[in-house]
Amino acid sequence: MQGLMQAQQLTTAMLIRHAATNHPRREIVSRGVDGSLTRSNWQTVERHARHIAASLADLGLRPGDRVATLAWNRLPHLELYYGVSGAGMVLHTVNPRLFPEQIRYIIDHGGARLLCVDPDLIAIIEPMLGDLPKIEHVVILSDQADTPASSIADPISYQSLIAGPRAIEAWPDIDENCANALCYTSGTTGDPKGVLYSHRSTVLHAMSALANDSMSLGAADSILVVTPLFHVNAWGIPYSAAMAGAKLVLPGSALDPVSLFELMRDEDISFSLGVPTIWFAFLDYLERECSPEDRAGLQLNRIFTGGAATPRSLIERFRDLLDVETVQAWGMTETSPVATVCRPLAHHADLPEAAQIDLRAMQGRAVFGMELRIENEDGMELPRDGEAAGLLKVRGPWVLNAYEGQPTGSALDAGGWFDTGDVAKIDPDGFLQITDRAKDVIKSGGEWISSIDLENAAVAHAKVAEAAVIGVAHPKWQERPLLLVRPHPGETCTKDEIVAHLTDKVARWWLPDDIIFVDELPHTATGKLLKTELRKQYGDHFGA
Ligand code: ADP
Repeated sequence: MQGLMQAQQLTTAMLIRHAATNHPRREIVSRGVDGSLTRSNWQTVERHARHIAASLADLGLRPGDRVATLAWNRLPHLELYYGVSGAGMVLHTVNPRLFPEQIRYIIDHGGARLLCVDPDLIAIIEPMLGDLPKIEHVVILSDQADTPASSIADPISYQSLIAGPRAIEAWPDIDENCANALCYTSGTTGDPKGVLYSHRSTVLHAMSALANDSMSLGAADSILVVTPLFHVNAWGIPYSAAMAGAKLVLPGSALDPVSLFELMRDEDISFSLGVPTIWFAFLDYLERECSPEDRAGLQLNRIFTGGAATPRSLIERFRDLLDVETVQAWGMTETSPVATVCRPLAHHADLPEAAQIDLRAMQGRAVFGMELRIENEDGMELPRDGEAAGLLKVRGPWVLNAYEGQPTGSALDAGGWFDTGDVAKIDPDGFLQITDRAKDVIKSGGEWISSIDLENAAVAHAKVAEAAVIGVAHPKWQERPLLLVRPHPGETCTKDEIVAHLTDKVARWWLPDDIIFVDELPHTATGKLLKTELRKQYGDHFGA
């Protein structure tokens, strides 16, 4: 027998309707191309989104069609999130920091008929438009009425989308299992692959973010969205902020520490999120350039980190400089992304300070809805004892079942689990600890060495700004660790200093066989260490 409750479909229109009705005047602040701030609110975003939906239909687009964006974190991009998906179309966000050929491949593979581009990114698109035969229209996301000059034929101005005479009166009914958004993995593990989210997965993921043991978002929060809207939907923030009725601050393309600090100070930011690389640069700035009085002016109380391991030093520095809590999460494009979040349990309250930091450097527990499992290479489940490390698999309502263009269920094993490609331990309290990516783990004499643990130990040295560890082929041990260190500007350190620092932090046989000091380390378009590049450069360092 069925229950007798209303079966309302979980759609993105439900989110924006909620925000516009219940938090109409809560501000959305956006930094434009010229650095000036535009102030809007949830009510206006919803109205503009209804105009966008009508304008797209007038251009001949139909439910299910894809609309690609190449854009920073600005107001038009946010409005497209709702206008496109609310009309039953699919918003395909593309990362402008990728190589041009990757951008072209991803836009073409996603099949968009319409492409929206920020004025300062037109130069990327102009030379490739001839090789994007599926694109019928280009919209320039200018926040001014005038569209900048370009070679693009008949560009449409964003103003004409939102200021047209017609807006849809009400959001159409959409099946919650229909697609609403498309993101591609950044391709550090081969060709970029598309992950096609549904309205239902998006709403459930957003609801999960509000939980106290996750991002703990509420209407009183003012959120600085550092994570790009083109990187896994800014970890769901455009949706969860609407659900919470929070204030949103969109920093545009300027993610330098000074710009972030000014926005934090002037917009009363309480919460922000981003990859560790961004936060290290921000902390360096706070330490070097800001007085205690400047720092005391911030309202920030928690930082959400993910995308790469969060070293202890980052957690300690946020605590010491700003009295801010660092909350680490783990996830991937394929998991929408938030799957685990690290928040302490009641029995951790009495732990000594150092142990509290150790705990926060883990990736945390599964949020409700997500299931985790670690397996050995034969597919046998390994114990949750905090000791055994195995291949991490996940299952849940916001985990993909197939990549874009592939048959349903093809990304899963027979038990319905998705293999993340990460290697992890799980402790008896359910805390996940990512020890490596399967392809980055260092296989030395039949044992595994965690490159992440070694990197975290190295960056805890005061002179070290950034560290990368790769496994390099070795004539005797199969592979041995090579540590690359980028010292803080103006600092010089010696190999002996680093080895002495590591000695009481990792097992003796984990100590790197060599240490190389570099001025720069290569990164992916989403700010992660690009180890494929390092392996190419240093692959025969031990002469194997
Ligand atoms: P890509 O797979 O293209 O690099 P994603 O952004 O989807 O792009 O990256 C997901 C991967 O990032 C995870 O599989 C994991 O290896 C890594 N990752 C994400 N969060 C963390 C974290 N908190 N700690 C360690 N690694 C992380």
